Order: sequence, then C-alpha cells, then structure tokens
Amino acid sequence: MKVRFLILSFFILFHAHSMECDLKSQKELGQEILKDLTQSPLSCLKNDVHLTFDDGPSLSVTPAILKELELRKVKATFFVTSTHLEATHEKYKEKRDLVNQTLTSGHLIASHGHEHHAYDLRMKRNGEIEEEGFSQEEREKQMQKSMDLLQWSTQGKFKQQDLLLFRFPYGRGAMPSEMELEHKIKNGEIHLSGTTYSEKLKEYRSISPALQTIAGGGFSHLGWNHDSQDSSYGVKAPEKNVLKEYIKKNLKGLCGSPQVTKVALFHDIKEMNISAIPLIIDIGQCLGLKFISAQEMIKNSGLKSSGVIIEKNEILKGTVSNVLNGIQAVEKLGQPACSEVAPDKSCWSEQYKKYYAHCSGGDSVCFEGKWKSRTDPIIQDNCH
Ligand SMILES: [Zn+2]
Repeated sequence: MKVRFLILSFFILFHAHSMECDLKSQKELGQEILKDLTQSPLSCLKNDVHLTFDDGPSLSVTPAILKELELRKVKATFFVTSTHLEATHEKYKEKRDLVNQTLTSGHLIASHGHEHHAYDLRMKRNGEIEEEGFSQEEREKQMQKSMDLLQWSTQGKFKQQDLLLFRFPYGRGAMPSEMELEHKIKNGEIHLSGTTYSEKLKEYRSISPALQTIAGGGFSHLGWNHDSQDSSYGVKAPEKNVLKEYIKKNLKGLCGSPQVTKVALFHDIKEMNISAIPLIIDIGQCLGLKFISAQEMIKNSGLKSSGVIIEKNEILKGTVSNVLNGIQAVEKLGQPACSEVAPDKSCWSEQYKKYYAHCSGGDSVCFEGKWKSRTDPIIQDNCH
C-alpha cells in the first residue's frame, strides 16, 4: 500500500511538473532536468527572485540574454563595468548602444564601477592581501567616470531611471569578510563595538567610506544573497552535463530558504548563461518561483534588514559625522557631472571652464576629444 502510494505520488508530482512547465526553448534539456529534480524531490518554497547580471555588456552574451528575458517578460538589472564603454575600448560604440537598448527595453542599468577593482580591502582566504582597495580620491574618480560613461551611452537616460543602483566589484565596501574586518580593527583603522560578525558588519556599513562615496553620488547599494557561482566556470559554455548540474544547483539554491526574496548574481559575460537563464526561469516558474523587477525587489523589507539593499538615505543619515572622507565626498559630488572630471574623449571648453563629454556641446560639439561644428557630417552621423 505504502509503495503504491509512493509510486502514485511520484507519478503525480512528475506528471504535474512536466505538464505545467512551459519550456519555451531547449525542451529536451529542460525535460531531463525536470526529471532529475523530481527524482530527488525538490521542495520549492515559492520565493521571489530578481536576476542581476554583472561585468557586461558582452556583444555575444548580453543580446542573447536580453532576447530570452524578453520572450519571458522578465525584467533584470545589469551592473555595467564602464571600461567597456570607453572610446579606447574595442567595439565601444556597439557596447554603448547595447547599454542604451537594455535600458529602453525596461531593464535597470546600474553601475558596477569603472575599472573592475575593489573599492575596499580584499583578502584571500589564506589571509594574504589581494587588493588594498581604491584610495578615497580614486573611488570618487572611478564612480564619476562610470556615471559619465553610463550617461553618455544612454543619452542622459541613466540618471532619469527611478532607481540608481551601484554594486561594488567583489562586493567589497559593503560586504567585507570577517577576516577583512578583523584586519582593519587590528590595524587601528576602525573601531567597532559589536561582538559578532553580523553586528560588526552592520556597524561597518554605517561608516564604510566606499558606501559613503556612492551614496553621495546618489546611489543605493545592491549586493546579492544568491551567487550562481558562474565565476568558477570559463567564459565559453561548458559541456551539456556540466551545464545541467549548474542549472540544477541554481534552481535548488533559488528554491530553498522560505520567504526570502532572492537577489541572484549572474554574469552576462559567461556563455553558459545563454542556455541556463531561460531554463532557470521556465523551470523555476513551474516550481513556484516568481521573477520580479528591480522596482518590485527594492520594496522588500527583508532585503533591507539583511543588508542586501543598502539605501542611499540610510547610508547618509546620521553617519556623515563619523567619517571625514565621507563628508568630503558628499560635498564634492553634489556638483554636476562632467564639469570636474574629464571623461574619456572629452573636450575642454575655455569659455565655460569645464569638460564636455563626447557628442555634447552647443554650436560646437565635442567629438573624440576635438571640437567640431554641429553641422559637420561626422557629428550628424555619429552623435544623436
Ligand atoms: Zn564583477
């Protein structure tokens, strides 16, 4: 009787899953994964999930992911590494257009900084220092450059978005490890009164110069609470079985922990995500996951109390008196973009005593570091 019941319930479970799942692509691989998942029963706890993609854009991966998201009406956040958008970078024009296209398709464009380096101390697990982190001056420059390039790429739409989010490379500045905090305490750089790691972490977030800097620039910080671990794979897509395990591992991670909205970290420079993302969405939805937009995600109070979302106002409120560097950063960054820091290929105006970004200006327009007449064909063809 018991055995018959088990067989029957397995059949119902599997049957239900395979019937309800709307696999919009890669049906064969999707069915195999579903079969594996129902064979080792997966209790999915109907979490909300917000997908985020770092380090892009990539001309080969990002458009394919955008297409899959569009097909499924899922909105994500793209944390752009703005070195891709610099005029010195190969294919920068196409990449700038891609960022603009991503924004106009309804996704959120966010900053992952300019160069992909740590904004604060970054240590290896063995205690060696991997990066000291940017100086305060460099943090401000890096953030400003990223803002300028994102503004330039989107013809000013970046700052008009209803949410301005920043994610530090490696999360450092907002998500220091316990070892990194202890290192700072031992060196006398900071004094924290908390005893546990989570108390210390919370305290550090209220004095972190990196957080103060981005809040001064108008950004809130978004970390993550689900790491896809795609960083541990190569850029090229792996063989089918490796891909299958990656998808299953992610579905299990997104499904676990009840009532926790997941902010999922992926990278749109990894080819494997072109195949993985559509199946994670299709199978995830079938198992009860709901994929939400940045605007829906940001309302979640649990993400705020756990520090995954650190709001600009929270960073600035009552903490500016603690960090001198922070105050300076806030005052300095109140000034309009493009006037103080020379963005890439910008032009200096003697008349207005400030830099103008590429393709900006009046009767004369800045083009790759040189002033040209607005009627010049090169301006007509290249600047919108
Ligand atoms: Zn990154």
